[in-house]
Amino acid sequence: MRDVYDTIVNCDECTKPTEKCESIKDGFMIRCWRCNNCRKQWLHPGDLEEYKRFIELKRKDFEVKLRQVGNSWSVSIPKEIIRFEEVSQTKVIRMSLDEPGKLSIFFQRVRRTY
Ligand SMILES: [Zn+2]
Repeated sequence: MRDVYDTIVNCDECTKPTEKCESIKDGFMIRCWRCNNCRKQWLHPGDLEEYKRFIELKRKDFEVKLRQVGNSWSVSIPKEIIRFEEVSQTKVIRMSLDEPGKLSIFFQRVRRTY
């Protein structure tokens, strides 16, 4: 099925064709259309829904278990985050100790950029 983003959208104010653009909110890329005449901007409805899902997850504060597994330690990542990051199988991910007491995990999910 073709995406709404594949079509040409005309501005409802000045009827001129809009230009495709990308808007970054909280590190999240949302595809958009912009009218270069009146500067009006429309966000892609699908991307906006996904952004809302992200914001809901971002607001949550998870409490997870840290436990020893052999010589390493393991944390349980909540399934909401795994679903959002579209992880479906065992994979190698990156992590770094950003500052004392703060660990970052990088799922390296490839976001659509077209
Ligand atoms: Zn316009």
